[in-house]
Amino acid sequence: MAIDRFGRNIHYLRISLTDHCNLRCVYCMPEDQVFRPNAELMQDDEILLLTRLFASLGFDKIRLTGGEPTVRAHIVDIVRGIASVEGIRSVSMTTNGVLLPKLAQPLADAGLERVNVSLDTLDPEKFKRLTRWGKFDDVWQGIHAAEAAGLTPIKINAVIVRGYNEDDAANLARLTLEHPWQVRFIEMMPFAGVTELQTRQTVTAQEIRERIEDSLGDLQVANGGKLDGETRLFKLPNAKGEVGLISSVTVPFCSTCNRARLTADGRLRLCLLREKEVDLLTPLRAGATLDELRAIILDGVWHKPWGHALAEGLIPLNRAMNEIGG
Ligand code: SAM
Repeated sequence: MAIDRFGRNIHYLRISLTDHCNLRCVYCMPEDQVFRPNAELMQDDEILLLTRLFASLGFDKIRLTGGEPTVRAHIVDIVRGIASVEGIRSVSMTTNGVLLPKLAQPLADAGLERVNVSLDTLDPEKFKRLTRWGKFDDVWQGIHAAEAAGLTPIKINAVIVRGYNEDDAANLARLTLEHPWQVRFIEMMPFAGVTELQTRQTVTAQEIRERIEDSLGDLQVANGGKLDGETRLFKLPNAKGEVGLISSVTVPFCSTCNRARLTADGRLRLCLLREKEVDLLTPLRAGATLDELRAIILDGVWHKPWGHALAEGLIPLNRAMNEIGG
């Protein structure tokens, strides 16, 4: 079991499969972002070996992210490999959905359980402005392909950026009236690359809530008021789905954090919003034994930071968001 010095049991690993992406969302990275050469990224066998190691330490829940995980070569085989590791109980993915029309069914067949699809607006023009390169229809079809493939419950991740899509929060929440989806609003967080936009154009979860309630009526507390992971869940009257608010910046959930992240270049990142990382890929490639690697992981987890320090003005600047994975 991997326990940190605050007594938190860390058993949820988010693995970034690549820093590359087929979109350039304005709140994630600059348009001219340079990606790492493939040789610097974990190779397929290294991902599997590390997954087995983490599983042997009690990690049982995996989320694949990026960059964009679906642009990774052999993605279906990677999912199949991870899903078959002993001890792994669930494998999910955060994706922009663009490639789901063709990949949803093969991924489901390979053992993927669920997807979170990022979608920040239902307006194709605003979608293009936010993602720089994306087509709304691709993602919309991707969401339906995921639903048809049984990658449910569908969760939609939306980031609201002032000057881009603050008027869209209510329209996105409205989707839950018709669909049994969870539409979750993530407060924009600051990293390297596009820090200025990320700090100046934020919209708080509280404002998002007010915007939704002004248009659609009161949000009723769901899930008994308990956090669902990092999400506070609500329901609109007579809705089939739920609205989630992820207030990572204004009301952090660090005390219940059970996660660690593995970056695409094989660093164990202990807190999304802290620069502290532990290199696993270099010792792995240098011939470290499995026991030595386990010891490095356990020591890293033990020293997991309590939480972020955005309120004190400490912004993690060693990576852009696409280099960490959400
Ligand atoms: N490409 C995939 C996608 O679009 O879902 C996975 C990687 S993306 C970095 C993971 C999640 O992080 C997405 O839901 C995205 O909207 C969110 N995200 C990106 N930049 C963010 C930021 N600055 N603050 C909050 N969430 C962000």
